[in-house]
Amino acid sequence: MDLPVDEWKSYVLQKWSLLPKSIQVTISTAETLNDLFLHSSALLQPEDEMFLKRLSGGYVVGKDPDASLFYREKGNKKFQAKDYMGAAVLYSKGVSHSGPNSTDISLCYANRSAALFHLGQYETCLKDIVRAQMHGYPERLQPKLLLRKAECLVTLGRPQEASQTIIDLESSFAAKPTLSASQFQILQRTLCRVKVKVQEKKNLPEIFPEALTKTFEGMDLREENEQIPGASSSVTLHIDPLKGRFLVATKDILPGELLVKEDAFVSVLNPGEVPLRPHSLESKWEIQATSGDLHCHRCLRHTLAPVPCEGCSYAKYCSQECMQQAWDRYHSVECSLGALLLTLGVFCHVALRSTLLARFEDVGKVIKKLCGEMSNQGICLPESKNPAQILKYGQGGEGEKTDKAVETPIPGCDINGKYERNYNAIFHLLPHTENHSPEYKFLCAVSVSALCRQLEAAGLQAFTTDLKPTKLKAAETPVLGAELNVWGVAMLRHMLQLQCNAQAITTIQQTGSKESLIADTRRVRLATALFPVVSLLNHSCSPNTSVSFIGTIATIRASQLIRSGQEILHCYGPHESRMGVAERRQKLRSQYFFDCDCPPCEREKQRPSAGPGREAFRCHRCRALLQGDDVLSCSGPACTESVGRDLLVSRLQDLQQQVGAAQKHLRNGRLELAIQLLLGCQSDAESFLSAEHSVVGEIEDALAQAYAALGDWEKSATHLQKSLQVVEVHHGPSSVEMGHELFKLAQVFFNGCAIPEALNTIQKAEKVLLVHYGPWNDEIRELQKMKSCLLDLLPIPVGPKE
Ligand SMILES: [Zn+2]
Ligand SMILES: [Zn+2]
Ligand SMILES: [Zn+2]
Ligand SMILES: [Zn+2]
Repeated sequence: MDLPVDEWKSYVLQKWSLLPKSIQVTISTAETLNDLFLHSSALLQPEDEMFLKRLSGGYVVGKDPDASLFYREKGNKKFQAKDYMGAAVLYSKGVSHSGPNSTDISLCYANRSAALFHLGQYETCLKDIVRAQMHGYPERLQPKLLLRKAECLVTLGRPQEASQTIIDLESSFAAKPTLSASQFQILQRTLCRVKVKVQEKKNLPEIFPEALTKTFEGMDLREENEQIPGASSSVTLHIDPLKGRFLVATKDILPGELLVKEDAFVSVLNPGEVPLRPHSLESKWEIQATSGDLHCHRCLRHTLAPVPCEGCSYAKYCSQECMQQAWDRYHSVECSLGALLLTLGVFCHVALRSTLLARFEDVGKVIKKLCGEMSNQGICLPESKNPAQILKYGQGGEGEKTDKAVETPIPGCDINGKYERNYNAIFHLLPHTENHSPEYKFLCAVSVSALCRQLEAAGLQAFTTDLKPTKLKAAETPVLGAELNVWGVAMLRHMLQLQCNAQAITTIQQTGSKESLIADTRRVRLATALFPVVSLLNHSCSPNTSVSFIGTIATIRASQLIRSGQEILHCYGPHESRMGVAERRQKLRSQYFFDCDCPPCEREKQRPSAGPGREAFRCHRCRALLQGDDVLSCSGPACTESVGRDLLVSRLQDLQQQVGAAQKHLRNGRLELAIQLLLGCQSDAESFLSAEHSVVGEIEDALAQAYAALGDWEKSATHLQKSLQVVEVHHGPSSVEMGHELFKLAQVFFNGCAIPEALNTIQKAEKVLLVHYGPWNDEIRELQKMKSCLLDLLPIPVGPKE
């Protein structure tokens, strides 16, 4: 997903392998990114571009009225089957494929409003009704739409507006003799019902939605850092020749304190599993919803009712505002390149968008540096007689270059030492040019050049068909031709930076079957982004912070007490609770180019063969742990049992397969079958795995889910408590994993009406989750709702009457 599709990757790698040795050497040893780019770019032939074009042709990114009809019909089927969620998704796909101001789009919006109505999303439903009308919803169908509008307004407690809608409706009835008698009767009846409701509502005081009055309390930094906007004043920026830039605590920091709150400089929504395949009538249009269908392409907010870009079918937004902002800042250029960007991967897309966003930043300074001081860091401008024209960034003269460099003490900071979240900071993230393999650099450079050629071809057109020509001034458009190389070099730099600096924006996704009442959640990757401040943090396999996201905003909180002078660390992925030291170090070396020497790594290196003890095997006779390498022998005092590791490992693999099969049954709602299988797995696991083995935890967790789905809360709680013990051993009592597990247990107790147990667990879950997420978190708000509901249920001690 991050890198280009496999077909293009192997094509380019083959091209590389066929290059004469001398050219390979020239590219491998290119001293600057500029040289790397120019040498690689020169090798990109028209036939290569043709191949890429054919590959891109497999993605459906344009609008297609046939698709609009197809999705609307599929949506209607789901609607009839009362699957309103599924219907909304399909109508959204229909919306994306219809042109503006067409009957198609108005019908899709109107149908989606009906689905949203049934889902209880009244505000969104109203918006879709307005959209349907705006795009020319047919007159003859208006009464139905107006009725729905009136019902929404009543439900939302807006009786005045509802009355007005009814007046409109009645006059529209009078003007519509075309309505058949039966249709008229149905409408009349519904109208009567709504009128009664309006009357009822009018007698009630107006209710204001509670959510609107809430603020983002606890979401703000207590005191912002003057040197690093977006970071708390409890940290400071240091630099060290070995470690590079890093953050250090300036005072003792308590668990849960917010240390960084930063909006991404750039983010690109991961499109999800978009199938790349040749057109065929059967499977031309994808019915499955991907994350690209359910999240705003700008702010990443989840939405069931996206509005599409008017020019393509793949860019969708939560609102008109997001659509306009995206268009003004980058999408006007990206719109026609959708298929190409899907083919070249998310890294290439992030690289392009970074440079597009930079046009609106104060980048004159950056480019001056680009001309000057950066030349020794691998970026260097092509010779140009008029540097002021380059990129049209600023009026940077060539005269004032190198001496300015000395004034900046830390890369990425301005001359006052301030580290700002702008293009300058992004530009200074390390590309690690010398660490990447020549093949990887060639792949990136060729992909970026192909993108540049397309930009050049689409260029003028893309910029001039801007919907709001005033927003994109001519002076801000990139200059085509030779200067496009500067864009190319900048994009190449970003692409190389991304391997080490890309931050995955993740979200918690519900994965359980619809019947399951307790949350089965999975952390999924939503977008790829660059965060200048978050990028300053170094890695530890046992970090002292926890990162979470709200839309494109990252927050980092202390997950434990951090003493003044200690470094602020977060985990790049390989966490000590998830993998052994050898695997972690290998991963970090190959992706991030460093050898981890964090305390857990140093500790585990001392006894490398031991591995995580909790994943141990045990003796089937006496239950004592087995020890040894290839042949394990029992550690029990009077036992002589021994067994080969191979045998145990293959038994474990079989067991894991069984568990996987059971989980699949569980997801598909075959609960009895799942339980039967899981109980078998459980007794099998008991005979050869330690009680804290992660597979044991998985089995208990799945059993808990299955019983919860059956409504057997007591059994569910028993299994969940066992799973909780395993999670605690692996991740620690205050880990975020523990928080999620406690949340599930709270739900089970809550549903089973075990009031004291539920209250006790809610309190524990809240305490753990608050540290990691702060108060503005869905799970925490859910816990609070459960708590207040339970407190209402508790018998109130009756005092003497006054
Ligand atoms: Zn949005
Ligand atoms: Zn578009
Ligand atoms: Zn480590
Ligand atoms: Zn034994």
